[in-house]
Amino acid sequence: MTEPERGIVLGGSWAGMLTARMLSRHMRHVTVVERDVFPAEPRLRKGTPQARHSHILWSGGARIVEEFLPGTLDRLADAGARRIVFQRDAVTLGPHGWQHRFPSRQFGIMCGRALLDWVVREETLSTGSIDVRQHTEAVQLLGEPERITGVRVRDTTSGAETTLRADLVVDATGRGSRLANWLADLGLPPLEEDVVDAGMAYCSRLYQAPPGATDGFPPVNIAADPHSGEPGRFGAVYPQEGGRWIVTLAGTRGAKLPSREADFVPYARTLRDPLVADLIEGAEPLSDVMVSRFGANRRLYPERLDAWPEGLLVLGDALAVFNPIYGHGMSAAARGVAALDEQLAKPGPHPAREAQRAISERVDDPWIMAASKDIEYVDCHVRVTDPRLTGGAADRHQFSAFIDTRALRSPAVSAVMTDVASLSVSPAELSTSRFLALMSRDELRPELAAPPLSAEELALVNLGARAPATTAATPHGLAATADSVSSARPVSEEGHPS
Ligand SMILES: Cc1cc2nc3c(=O)[nH]c(=O)nc-3n(C[C@H](O)[C@H](O)[C@H](O)COP(=O)(O)OP(=O)(O)OC[C@H]3O[C@@H](n4cnc5c(N)ncnc54)[C@H](O)[C@@H]3O)c2cc1C
Repeated sequence: MTEPERGIVLGGSWAGMLTARMLSRHMRHVTVVERDVFPAEPRLRKGTPQARHSHILWSGGARIVEEFLPGTLDRLADAGARRIVFQRDAVTLGPHGWQHRFPSRQFGIMCGRALLDWVVREETLSTGSIDVRQHTEAVQLLGEPERITGVRVRDTTSGAETTLRADLVVDATGRGSRLANWLADLGLPPLEEDVVDAGMAYCSRLYQAPPGATDGFPPVNIAADPHSGEPGRFGAVYPQEGGRWIVTLAGTRGAKLPSREADFVPYARTLRDPLVADLIEGAEPLSDVMVSRFGANRRLYPERLDAWPEGLLVLGDALAVFNPIYGHGMSAAARGVAALDEQLAKPGPHPAREAQRAISERVDDPWIMAASKDIEYVDCHVRVTDPRLTGGAADRHQFSAFIDTRALRSPAVSAVMTDVASLSVSPAELSTSRFLALMSRDELRPELAAPPLSAEELALVNLGARAPATTAATPHGLAATADSVSSARPVSEEGHPS
């Protein structure tokens, strides 16, 4: 790329809006092309069906959003989003046991995905410098194999086609991107692609939380054990604005995920702990059961193409998608946008291949974390060239199980693991001598026999009578360990409202 003046972003969702905002710092004319019409308030729309399911924005992505759109996190908090400090404010059953609720440097934003998109969109477009073409679909790239010069678009109402010229076209059209076809039409060779598909599917349902529970009760995560030899089964209860819970049940291939209302709670009872089932059994459902089967990890390698065209970049889900259970998609997209910002800030020409390589490097951490875990599930379909996924599996899994287990009971190890899980620190940190030294000297807390919930928290969800606050396990499985529970107070960190 020489000094680009005119940029076009294809797709106006999470990655598209952040990209448009970032480009508007470097270019005079930025246009977003979006197939849908944006709702005037936080509402679901056709182009982002995943918004029906629980979403967490990890701090690794949230901090980038805040850098491009200052004030966004406060605006989300004002609209009812919760800021959860991990692991202090969450209750998690990991593959190797219950996690102590240790403090950390990291947080996650929890609210409806429609609210996240709406606030980011409003903040982006309030700058006034970005042109938006709604109900407009990108249908073809214009130019030559060496250089893209624009895009052909179709008005989805009239069917009329026009061309838009640009120095830079960014594909942010998500997992359904037609990039492979567009490149083939230009005569370019196919892009290399890795796929790790554990057959993950999601089903979610909105519930009315008991009064006070969306603020005062922690989010709950029940994970699967990939080494059990059985299909993985997961469950989560996340707070949302408006006093609601979004409850997501998930499963890998063969888990027999429910699609009918009648099967929802029974499936939750098959998880490794009945907490999710207990929480929702008496709660009022507010929606149907919504199913999504987009759970594979898939990564394209555009940077490997010898002749990547000038004037074209790809990021967000169009570049790499991850099993949603890790909550990394939005943060990975934000990291890609930040990488492009750094490239464009450099003086001189910006070759597209170099910029694309920088963007692709930022998806590597979430890719390897998700793919190396999912590959362990039974009946996982794998088609990869990544050498880290094709050899040495036994050693890798043994080490990862060792540190996962340690993090459950060690405040310092847990803090580093949370840095990594939130995409704030690279997983390479876990192989440093610094981290190994930390593991060798850290003191372990007692193993938890049951979910670390305080009596106040249990009372909020009407489970108090069944769960003494300080004993280990009850017949029901609920209990609390006094030293592991901070309190049921509303959460805040660094002065931010929860
Ligand atoms: C069930 C589920 C749960 C998830 N949970 C989490 C989570 O907890 N945390 C997290 O970080 N991530 C999560 N993700 C991933 C997250 O949703 C995605 O990573 C994120 O939406 C990617 O943003 P994007 O803008 O790249 O793509 P999308 O959000 O998919 O947006 C693509 C946009 O492009 C538009 N479009 C498509 N084709 C065209 C075209 N030809 N012309 C014009 N416009 C077009 C679409 O209408 C849409 O607006 C989850 C995903 C799923 C499926």
